[in-house]
Formats: sequence, C-alpha cells, structure tokens
Amino acid sequence: MSREDGYFWDPRVELLDREEIRALQLRKLRDVLDRCTRSPFYRRWFKEAGFRPEKVRSLEDLRALPPMDKDTLRGAAPRDFLTVPLDEIVRVHSSSGTTGQATIIFHTMKDIQAWADLGARCMYMTGVRRSDVFQNMMGYGLFTGGLGFHYAAERLGAMVIPAGSGNSKRQIQLMREFGTTVIHVIPSYALYLLEVFREMGVDPRADTELRIAFIGAEPHTEDLRRRVEEAYGVDAYNSYGLSEMSGPGVAFECPRKEGMHVWEDAFILEVLDPRTLEPVGEGEEGELVFTSLHREGMPLLRYRTRDLAFTYPDVCACGRAHRRISRIKGRTDDMFIIKGVNIFPMQVEKVLLGILGVGSNYRIILETVGLRDEMRVLVEVSDKLWHGDVRELNRLREKIINELKQEILVTPLVTLVEPGSLAREEGKAVRVVDRREYVKGV
Ligand code: AMP
Ligand code: ZN
Repeated sequence: MSREDGYFWDPRVELLDREEIRALQLRKLRDVLDRCTRSPFYRRWFKEAGFRPEKVRSLEDLRALPPMDKDTLRGAAPRDFLTVPLDEIVRVHSSSGTTGQATIIFHTMKDIQAWADLGARCMYMTGVRRSDVFQNMMGYGLFTGGLGFHYAAERLGAMVIPAGSGNSKRQIQLMREFGTTVIHVIPSYALYLLEVFREMGVDPRADTELRIAFIGAEPHTEDLRRRVEEAYGVDAYNSYGLSEMSGPGVAFECPRKEGMHVWEDAFILEVLDPRTLEPVGEGEEGELVFTSLHREGMPLLRYRTRDLAFTYPDVCACGRAHRRISRIKGRTDDMFIIKGVNIFPMQVEKVLLGILGVGSNYRIILETVGLRDEMRVLVEVSDKLWHGDVRELNRLREKIINELKQEILVTPLVTLVEPGSLAREEGKAVRVVDRREYVKGV
C-alpha cells in the first residue's frame, strides 16, 4: 500500500514489522550515540556512568545508561546538550510550565522538518488530506502544540488557520468563515467551547463542516472523547507528546482508537517500573521513557516522562506494528495539568509563602464549573487578618490571584478560609484534590 492508496503517509516506515523496527532503531541509536559524544553534557554523563557508546551492540545495551529527567535537564546549561554548533539552531521551545519549571529544547532546521513530518504522519493516519482546513486552537509561542502541528499540517498540504488558543467566539466565527474540517484543541477547552456555541446559537454538528478533532496535551477520559464526538459530530483522536520529545506527534491514535501508536522509528520506548527502573511486562502499567532517534540538535537519551501508561501486546488491526500505549493514567510526580498548562504545587506554595497575611496551609482544588475546568486555591489567612477589615481581605485575594497568575499562567479562583480550617492529615499533606469530571490523571 502507498500514500496514494489513502492509508499511509509513509508506508515504508509505517509498515515495518517488529524485527525491522528494532533493526532500524539500533542503526539510528548508534548514530545518535555517536553524535552525543560531541555534547559536553553527554561526554560528562557517559563518563560518570562508565558508559561506552561505541560498545553498544543491541538496544538492551542502552540500559547501562542511567535515565534522565527534568532535573537532569535543569541541572545543566541547555547549550551543553547540543551536538551541533549553536549557529545551526533555528528554534527554541519549552514545556508548558513557567520559567522556573520549564525545560528548554533547541531545534535545527532538520529537527523541525522531521517533527513536521511525524505530525503529518499522525494526521494523515486519521484521514486528514490536502483538501482539509485545519484550525489550530493550541497556544502558539514557546509551547509546542501550536507551532508543532502548524508545520505538520502545512507539510501535509492542508490549509492552516493559526487561530491559537482562547478567543472563543472568534474561534467559532473562523470555523464558519473558512469551513474548518479539522480542529486541534485541548480536551477541556473543547468541552467549554460547547457553551459558547450554545450562547451563539450555533450547532457544531449542523452549522459547521467539522469532521475530525485532535485532542491532547492533558489527560482525559474515554467519556470526554465520546462527548466531544457526539456534540461536534467528529471523530476525536487522542494525541500525546511532550516538549522534551519535540511536542505533539510522539504517539497518536489510528482509526481503531485502541491505544496510541508510538512512532518507533523516531523514538525508543521503554516502560519502566518507576521505583526499580526495570522494564515492566507488556500490558503492565509503568513510566514511559523515551530516547529520541530523529533529533540532531539536542537528542535526549532515556528521558523519564513521569507519565504512567501500559503498552498493548499485539499488532494493531490497522497493520502498523509500532507499539501502542494506553491513555495516560497518571504521573509519578505531583505535576498536574489544567487548561493544558503544567503546574507543580510547589509553584503555588512559593507564591503564597511570599505574600504577607497568608496563613500556614493551602489546598488546590481542580473542579468542573459548568463545562469549564477551574483551579481553585483555598488559602488560610493569618488570624489577625481573618478578624480584621473585609477590604483588606479582598485586597489580599486580588494580590494572590495576580501573583499566582504571573507564576503559573492560569488565572485561579481564590477562596480565603479561616486559619486552621484546612484539615491536616497525618503524613504528607494533600495539596491537590482533583474533582474534574473529564480530565484526570494527577
Ligand atoms: P509539555 O512538555 O508542556 O508538552 O507537556 C507534556 C506533558 O503533557 C506530558 O508529559 C503529559 O503529562 C501531558 N500530555 C500530553 N499529551 C497528553 C495526552 N494525550 N494525554 C495525557 N497527557 C498528555
Ligand atoms: Zn493502529
């Protein structure tokens, strides 16, 4: 079968069998390891681990290298990871946290093209074609959802509307004006947008040309997918990616919608027990760990995502032997994602600690208000303030909202509560309570 047959963007690669995939991975891995010896970070990393890249003879040999994570990335200068001169870098992206937490990834032109090609492969797999109109409702800028799939859709030849996130009424106007057929959207926002459709008296099923939705960037349930499919009259496909592996395009659902294919010509996937770092069996939940094989500027080896999922045991009925991962079931750290933005409770704590009048305890509640996800922070205030002037309490609330917004990029709801009123559990404090109906996975 070929691209013209209408099923595969890159049939040569998509139809490789398991053996061929592994052989290709080994060949690429050895090239990547060789490149890595040009990077000051990897030279150190290899030396400390006593790892000899030139000795790697099998994919399993890679396990002699300790895995890395966000802290490893933050612990070294981003430039130290480069395997090319800085001159060859044409773009920088970061994860969707704020500066303190974000990780920086550099891309060469070849990296950008390879990423776009992978994205085009994902889209093509679900039936997107040159005749489609693709409205990209992901945030543009440093985050990867916007530009990543923007270039992917152009590579495929579809017409792109670079709408960006937010501005809901305008999104709907754009859909109608240009006959949008495919949207790329954060799942919780897709739900929220339904309220706006209603307010405007527009029926997404009857009054638009929509037929496909890509939903990703945050964990969500099968239920949410069904609601989106029903309400919009589309096929909705789960899209997984992370900035450290370039962004969207790492794993994607095929029309079977039974797990997301990881493109194993571009990534080595390991699923490890997060405690022992030993591989778990197929079908068992573990942490996803990726090695990038398609990136020349800043390859990452054995990168721990902190995302928990399992792999499906058999080859997919669609004909692709690239392994499939389940929905993301949770994380091994306390990061949570709201409105597509990654947040660590520590960021909230840091802001609160810096504000006079804030008491000793707080709690973050993630909840669904109408169809919209909100982050509410309950903050104990000091005794003196609690018994003082209401205007001062209001000023404090405003200040907390503003400072949190600057740090985490999401506007929270803030409720001030009486000192001592947030129950203290034995042991580790429960900082985050997730009551969202459709978006889960803290
Ligand atoms: P970022 O580095 O900002 O792109 O964020 C990447 C993180 O977003 C991943 O490590 C996951 O935790 C989360 N994520 C991305 N796509 C999905 C998805 N389809 N389902 C669940 N979580 C996702
Ligand atoms: Zn499949």
